Amino acid sequence: MIEKRINELIQIIHQASYEYYVLDNPTITDQEYDDFYKELLSLEEKYPQFKREDTPTQRVGGEVLDKFNKVTHEFPMLSFDDIFNEDEIAAFDERIRKVIQNPTYTVEPKMDGLSGSLLYKNGILIRAATRGDGVVGEDITANVKTIKSVPLHLKEDIDIEVRGEIYMSKSSFEQANLEREKKGENLFANPRNAAAGSVRQLDSKIAASRNLDFMAYFLPNPEDYGIQTQSESLEYLRKLGFVTNHKLNTVAHSVEEIVSVIDTLANKRKNLPYEIDGVVLKVNNLEDEKKLGFTSRVPRWGIAYKFPAEEVLTTLKEIKFTVGRTGKITPNAIFSPVHVAGSLITKATLHNEDYCLDKDIRLGDVISIRKAGDVIPEVVEVKLERRKEDTLPFKMITACPMCGAELIKKDANHYCPNDHCPARHIESLIHFVSRNAMDIEGFGERIIEDFYNMGYIKTFVDFYHLDKYKEELMELEGFGAKSILNLLDSIESSKQNSLERLLFALGIRYVGKKNAKILAEHYQTMDAFLAAHYEELVAIDNIGEMIAQSVVAYKNDIKNIEQINQLKALGLCMTYKGSKLVVDEAFQNKTFVLTGTLEQMTREEASLEIEKRGGKVTGSVTGKTSVVLVGKDPGSKYEKAKNLGIVIWNETEFLEKLNN
Ligand SMILES: [Zn+2]
Repeated sequence: MIEKRINELIQIIHQASYEYYVLDNPTITDQEYDDFYKELLSLEEKYPQFKREDTPTQRVGGEVLDKFNKVTHEFPMLSFDDIFNEDEIAAFDERIRKVIQNPTYTVEPKMDGLSGSLLYKNGILIRAATRGDGVVGEDITANVKTIKSVPLHLKEDIDIEVRGEIYMSKSSFEQANLEREKKGENLFANPRNAAAGSVRQLDSKIAASRNLDFMAYFLPNPEDYGIQTQSESLEYLRKLGFVTNHKLNTVAHSVEEIVSVIDTLANKRKNLPYEIDGVVLKVNNLEDEKKLGFTSRVPRWGIAYKFPAEEVLTTLKEIKFTVGRTGKITPNAIFSPVHVAGSLITKATLHNEDYCLDKDIRLGDVISIRKAGDVIPEVVEVKLERRKEDTLPFKMITACPMCGAELIKKDANHYCPNDHCPARHIESLIHFVSRNAMDIEGFGERIIEDFYNMGYIKTFVDFYHLDKYKEELMELEGFGAKSILNLLDSIESSKQNSLERLLFALGIRYVGKKNAKILAEHYQTMDAFLAAHYEELVAIDNIGEMIAQSVVAYKNDIKNIEQINQLKALGLCMTYKGSKLVVDEAFQNKTFVLTGTLEQMTREEASLEIEKRGGKVTGSVTGKTSVVLVGKDPGSKYEKAKNLGIVIWNETEFLEKLNN
């Protein structure tokens, strides 16, 4: 009896949510809903043995985690390339039309939140994950279960992975900031940050209180459900019980149609209950998508169009100078807070002295600020016509604001020359733990500063000795035993990071995230990297002279090598763990020459595919050439290859080999 009633109540409440969120057509009153809910809650309390995995009472949260577990996505979560104007839309369409006749596109509003993957087994939500780096994300199931528009039990009892956007509506965002203001807490900069911060709460009750929403937009393996187009995917998702953007998602057949949809959305944007920052264009037919495939990074069949940046006026209150980890001094404009593109902004970089002088920026000036998507805010221009009298021209400082050392000028930039400047140390420590570097969770800038000032952390090595002070740290005011334990845990697990993270974290000049990856992939181990000479480094694709010089200079400093050796002794991973090159016998260790025009891809893309599979591409046909790939209107290389009896592939054969 009891079990039957519980099942009945769950069914009623799920149906009510579906009618409310998906159909937008409730059939019971809020009061009735509350009564059913309370009845269910009290029955579950009395008879916990009947509490079901898909019960809606989980929506309030309650589970408190120590940390987020990592989740490897079965299908990588890729993102699209961004484009910003009509010409780029036309170029995208043209590329598609080279492969697909009369393509149709879905045009979907691009929600400004974060993408999430939801996994259902027998129709029940069993796991939710963030995108992370696309391959590995974080398990945020407890928090996602609190999102009321996420169905806990689908209309069909199937196994399925569904992707969509986790976002915060404009009204929930304002509400959340109102509450934070009352409590004297820092305000969320924008709904996207608020949503991202909320799903990464260890206490799911907090996530529940944030009123997040979810909109579904993608099935990674639609063919398993007999689906042939993206539009059908969206319809199917709605049928399963997901909220989709069915009123605004459209299908377009030409650039003109796409542009007109974008114009309409741009006009509606201000009045939508949530932020959008552009549209996502996808080739509708899934067979066509397959034909188009992927470049080495992104799908060829889709692209994200971003709305133009919004500009807002404000007043310059202060120019503040900061010291970066290379010692570089940056002037920053501090102005009256303004909302730009959904974010609350109070400062923007002014880069260097020349930039300030060019703009002739002065305290008290009215300035216009711009920000698009993730891009850092910038000062677009100074409204000279609104300048007050008695303003003084910008003047660069001559001494380091942190240590007082006299600045030196190199090219356009000023630097603090003091190797022991505390600002430089703190910045490099902050960089070391940051998300794309060693990704040590729990270290805000403030904590690093505190630990630095208290003497716990002066060098990278010190992070890995921090556990010696465990008891001491747990006694510190404002930290708490649990957060210290989490911190130490996070430090410990960072030892397992793949080599590219460490290379990036070391802060070698010009070795950004991308170059660190290239170097790690190329050398595979720290030892091999350290043994590399300048000539070897510049020979690597994408590694220019400047980077190679900087790497060599870094390696020539014995202190740096000592530091790496200490980190090694502490057990940090010194090898690359990423995917190795695809081994393919048709390509491996073979030398290719390309001639003529390819229809399906550029020569650069073809070369990349060959190299990915372990082949080499050279310019001229010799006795050592293994294969000549011949496109339309081939040159003399083709004749030479025939004369030398070298294997010749046409484009079709090449594509077949690629797809093998
Ligand atoms: Zn300094």
